[in-house]
Formats: sequence, C-alpha cells, structure tokens
Amino acid sequence: MRKTDILIIGGGPAGLAAAVGAYEAGARDILILDREERLGGILKQCIHNGFGLHTFKEELTGPEYAQRFIEKVLEYQIPYQTETMVIDVSPEKVATCVSRQKGLERIEAKAIILCMGCRERPRGSLGTPGERCPGIFTAGTAQRFTNLEGLMPGKEVVILGSGDIGLIMARRMTFLGAKVHACVELMPYSSGLKRNIVQCLDDFGIPLLLSHTVVDIHGREHLTGVTVAEVGPDLKPIPGTEKYFPCDTLLLSVGLIPENELSEMAGVKIAPTTSGAEVDEQLQTSVPGIFSAGNVLHVHDLVDFVSEEAMKAGANAFRYVQGTLSKGGRKVPVQMGFGVGGIVPQFVSENAEDKVSFMFRPRNVYRNAKVIVELNGEQIYSKKSMILAPGEMVNLSLPPEKLAGLKTADSILVRIEVPEA
Ligand SMILES: Cc1cc2nc3c(=O)[nH]c(=O)nc-3n(C[C@H](O)[C@H](O)[C@H](O)COP(=O)(O)OP(=O)(O)OC[C@H]3O[C@@H](n4cnc5c(N)ncnc54)[C@H](O)[C@@H]3O)c2cc1C
Repeated sequence: MRKTDILIIGGGPAGLAAAVGAYEAGARDILILDREERLGGILKQCIHNGFGLHTFKEELTGPEYAQRFIEKVLEYQIPYQTETMVIDVSPEKVATCVSRQKGLERIEAKAIILCMGCRERPRGSLGTPGERCPGIFTAGTAQRFTNLEGLMPGKEVVILGSGDIGLIMARRMTFLGAKVHACVELMPYSSGLKRNIVQCLDDFGIPLLLSHTVVDIHGREHLTGVTVAEVGPDLKPIPGTEKYFPCDTLLLSVGLIPENELSEMAGVKIAPTTSGAEVDEQLQTSVPGIFSAGNVLHVHDLVDFVSEEAMKAGANAFRYVQGTLSKGGRKVPVQMGFGVGGIVPQFVSENAEDKVSFMFRPRNVYRNAKVIVELNGEQIYSKKSMILAPGEMVNLSLPPEKLAGLKTADSILVRIEVPEA
C-alpha cells in the first residue's frame, strides 16, 4: 500500500489548483491522479478564449489557462500520475486505482480532495422520441472530435440545449464550415452565459429558439433531420407548431452531471440540489478529511471560481493533515429561499473563522432583484443586481464579523427579493 498525505483525484483545473493550494499552505507530500493522458481536464479541448479574466486579468484559451497551473505543479515538483483511473475510494481514505504502468494499486491518504469534474447528460436521459441513428453527439464529444482529434462530426447542425458548451460549439462548427440552423432551448431563457449567446450565436446570425424542443429525430443509416416544436408553460410541445430542420448532426448541450460515483463509495453525502457533495465552508464533506472542489462539487460557470475554490480545499486539506483545521463546532444549515438554486456550501460552522463564500444559480431570470442573506431574521447582506439569470452564478462573500450570530442561529437563509410589480 502506497501512502501519501494528500491525494487529489482528477488533474483538471480543480485538481491542479487544489495541489497548488495545498503546496502553498505547506504540504509537501501530495499526489495527483488523472485517468487521461495529460493534465488539464476539460480545458484541453476548450481552445476558445475567455478563460482567466478574474484570476489573471487576461483572456486566455482553455489550454493556456490550464498551463499556468501545470507550470506551478511542475515548479513545485508535485508528483502526478496520468492514465490512472481511480475505481474506488473508501471512507478510511484508501483509493484503489488502475493504470497500464502500475496495474492495480492501493493508496492510503491522510486527506483526499475529490476533483473529478462532470460528464454530459446523454440522449438517453432526455426521452426524445425518434430514430437511434448515428449523427447525434453531446456537444463536448463533438468539441473533442473537432479540437483534439481533427474530426468533423457533420456539416448541417442543430443544437439542442443552450448550455455554454452548445453555444461554444455553435460558433466552432460555423468556423469549421458547417451550417448551424438553430440552437433550440426548452426553457424561456438560456442556461448559458450572456457573453456566449452574443459572441457565439448573435454574431453569426444563429437563431436561439427559446421555449422549443426537438420532438422527433429522423434518419435510419444516418441522421437526416429533426422536428422542433414550441412548448407551452408546462414545457409540453404545442401541437401544430412543429417545424422540420434537415440536418446531419444533432448536438446535445442539455446539462452536466457531477461525477460523484467515487464520492458515494467513500460514504460522502450528496446534496440533491447540486448533485455534488454536501460541504461546509471549509469544503469538507460529510466524511472527515475528504474535501471536494470544482465541477464535481457543483457545475461552475467560470473556471476562475473553480480554481479559487480548489485552492481553498487544498489549503484546508493540509490543515486537516496537520490537525490545525478548525473543528468549527455546530454546523448551521444554509437554507435556499426564493429564487435560489443549488447553493454551496450547505453548512457553515458556528465558529467560522475566515470569510465565507456562497455560490448558487438563480432559478429564473430576475431583473433589478436583490440577493439577501438573513441570520436570525436579520439581514446581514443585501446586494442589488440589474439582472440575475440561471446561466450566471452568484458568488458572494461574508466576513466572519457578519456571521457572529451563527452561534445562536438554527439556519442561515439566502434568498432573492424581486421588486413589487
Ligand atoms: C465546452 C466547455 C466550455 C467551457 N468554456 C468556459 C469558458 O469559456 N470560460 C470559463 O471560465 N470556463 C469554461 N468552462 C468551464 C470550465 O472548463 C470548467 O469549469 C472546469 O474545467 C472544471 O474543472 P474541473 O477540474 O472541476 O473538471 P474537469 O476539467 O472536468 O477535470 C476533471 C478531471 O478529473 C479526471 N477524472 C475524473 N474521474 C476520474 C477518475 N475516476 N480517476 C482519475 N481521474 C478522473 C478527468 O479525467 C479530468 O481530467 C467550459 C467548460 C466546457 C466543458
């Protein structure tokens, strides 16, 4: 059995930043494992720019952003092992992994940081009727084909779902000579960033059909077209609104699923609202010494926030190993009030020592609304925003002095207040 102080599962932006955070806090015995050939996670295939505006105040491509952290990992001589798939993690913090180089290995850690990212929701989870023909890809798979493998999935494209990956792929496929007929979104709003709607659809004249969905898929040997229909407020197709789009490629951008199978094996409690681990403000899960960060914890909009979160998880994992991580006392649950979806953290320690950051996605589009935090019925934070939308995460921080009331609180409430009509 190999032993290490801090084991990081996943060498994407979260895993890399967790390693850097742990090292900069003082850790020297760290190991990163990743199943892919190279470090960098999903960023390896994100060759568009728009990364790093917050962290580096520069507009980088995905590989450039990842490289900044890979260089730190190399400079600090943090060991990593690629082409190594972790297949099990126990509550005792023993990871089992397999690799061609070393076969089956067991690694015992004093602390583990879960950084496995997420996978895309496949067609099977949608229940769309129609043929099961070739020509249907998740947007990320198509992105991998075009950007890493030099393969072109097709020439006539419809995109279902307006998540950021779909929006980015609408532009990418256009650059590569394809005709993107439409981006079809079930909800009355996009789940992607506003900047991606403008730069990837509007700038190329690609229509965004809100409140629409694909109701039929045609083609036997290969996809030949899809039928799209408008949906009503109940999200059900409205008969008579069907429209046929001839196409050879349907790209799905219908959501991401955090990869928490290992977390569950380790006994970590999963929050139904985020599909990620339940964590406290230190990013520690329900299993002491197991931390979680990045897209496996909750699906982020910007990688900068992934890095920030993971660096904190890394530093806290080292404090845990040292025995200096504050126990924090009673865990006060965070309640999601009106308009708040999938908040992290789910608990705040009554003796929280540092600033506490909350991240969540608004449930709908709200204009001139306020984000409010209440403790014992008293407002301790209030901020007005011109627009809040599900595609853009809300990120707010509270200094410890604002949280003094936690000692007597049963819960802390985060809610959105919309102006009266
Ligand atoms: C198409 C696309 C476009 C994006 N565009 C932008 C953008 O313009 N700007 C921006 O800021 N952000 C963007 N993002 C978001 C950003 O890329 C993610 O927030 C970030 O990559 C999440 O980092 P992560 O480390 O949590 O996950 P990932 O990058 O997914 O890394 C997870 C890693 O864990 C490894 N792993 C998983 N399971 C195991 C296992 N069992 N054993 C070993 N290794 C394992 C995987 O191989 C992977 O390397 C985009 C994302 C996508 C998908």
